[in-house]
Amino acid sequence: MAAAVSAGREFSQSAKIAVFDAQPRCGRKLLATGNGRCNLTNRLATPSCYNSDDAHAVSQVFSGVNVSDTLAFFESLGLVWREEDEGRIYPSCGQASAVLDLLRLELARLNIAEVCGCRIEKIRHEGPYYIMNSPLGIVRAKCLVVACGGMAAPNLGGVNWGYGLMQSLGHTATRLTPSLAPIPVDSPHLSSLKGIRAYANASICDERGVIYSDTGEVQFGDKALSGIVIFQLSSAAENVRSDNLCVELDMLPERNMEDIIALLAKRRTILPHLTLENYLTGVFNKRVGMCILKHSGMTPLSRSVSELSDGDIRRIASVIKCWRFPVSGVASWNSAQVTSGGIRLSEFDGMTMQSRLHTGLFAAGEMLNADGKCGGFNLQWAWSTGILAGRSAAFLIKKDMTKSK
Ligand SMILES: Cc1cc2nc3c(=O)[nH]c(=O)nc-3n(C[C@H](O)[C@H](O)[C@H](O)COP(=O)(O)OP(=O)(O)OC[C@H]3O[C@@H](n4cnc5c(N)ncnc54)[C@H](O)[C@@H]3O)c2cc1C
Repeated sequence: MAAAVSAGREFSQSAKIAVFDAQPRCGRKLLATGNGRCNLTNRLATPSCYNSDDAHAVSQVFSGVNVSDTLAFFESLGLVWREEDEGRIYPSCGQASAVLDLLRLELARLNIAEVCGCRIEKIRHEGPYYIMNSPLGIVRAKCLVVACGGMAAPNLGGVNWGYGLMQSLGHTATRLTPSLAPIPVDSPHLSSLKGIRAYANASICDERGVIYSDTGEVQFGDKALSGIVIFQLSSAAENVRSDNLCVELDMLPERNMEDIIALLAKRRTILPHLTLENYLTGVFNKRVGMCILKHSGMTPLSRSVSELSDGDIRRIASVIKCWRFPVSGVASWNSAQVTSGGIRLSEFDGMTMQSRLHTGLFAAGEMLNADGKCGGFNLQWAWSTGILAGRSAAFLIKKDMTKSK
């Protein structure tokens, strides 16, 4: 849609532009972004925030359309936005549907057709045209922007079709893995914490040490850890091939081990009348506190706080500082927000998003091998590449029109 709008704005209705989408309506995934609020970009998005096979092309993309250009694009559609924590930018009205509505209203103003429920099944390049097979018949175009998204969230329309279409035209793809997803972990006590959120420093580690670490809200699931901080860890760990990955939670990151031992010893002194069940109530969510104690081997929790030895206190402090959850499997496409890997970016000119193999073929968005952290970075990639691709496609058509006059 961003590509079509950018292309359409270059013409005064002399070019025929259409958006094809296999879904019953365009922008289905967009509606689900940011928990329905659409974290449309991030003030801190720069080329170094992305994993890709071609860092230079990512830099070229951002030199063409950066965060300010993107915000100007949305302002020109009528969007008012607001910046929240860590540079995250949302529509002021708090509705992802507003972003979609504004894009669709602009498509309508520019007389750009939305052809929905129409999957492009095949593409071939014959002479100056791209010939596409669809359930509605053959579609012929001089320029084509392919922005089929990735495989994340199949329930919201995530598919692998774009990779096949591009491969049929000679492009190649890297390994595809789900990213920005909950991390499946093993822990005997986790099921009792389902749905609870806690502030922690989370690290993903392998046998060599910490791979990536971040601080914020962690959400406990039945057999997985989730939340934005965990999503960032999943993104950092996606290329690490180790059977010994684990997540470590520091549940009191602002205090060191000695402080925690002193805190626990003080609680033993002032709360001797309590049972262990309530020893950590007031420090953590009660159920989290009980789990930490069980994990430290303090069962049964019906024992009195006064019975804790100094050794027990050190063991509890160690778990508070480093609560280990062995990673038990790989993230699923259903729970992922984005695809890591994709069509090789090096096969495109980062200044225009045009294919190096086919004149008139452009690509944009998640389908390409570039993915970023959680927080608006992936939509920013889609906007930057989409706007560039649409604009460049329009220039190519205009050049062609001038030549044939
Ligand atoms: C739950 C969830 C929340 C997210 N929240 C955020 C967020 O807040 N901020 C952020 O930056 N990112 C977020 N993301 C990631 C972001 O949504 C995607 O990276 C982004 O939508 C990618 O845009 P795209 O245009 O490349 O692909 P998509 O938005 O997936 O659009 C691709 C479209 O192409 C259509 N299509 C595919 N193949 C064909 C075909 N052969 N013929 C016709 N149509 C086809 C699909 O139906 C789809 O509608 C979130 C993702 C999920 C799943």
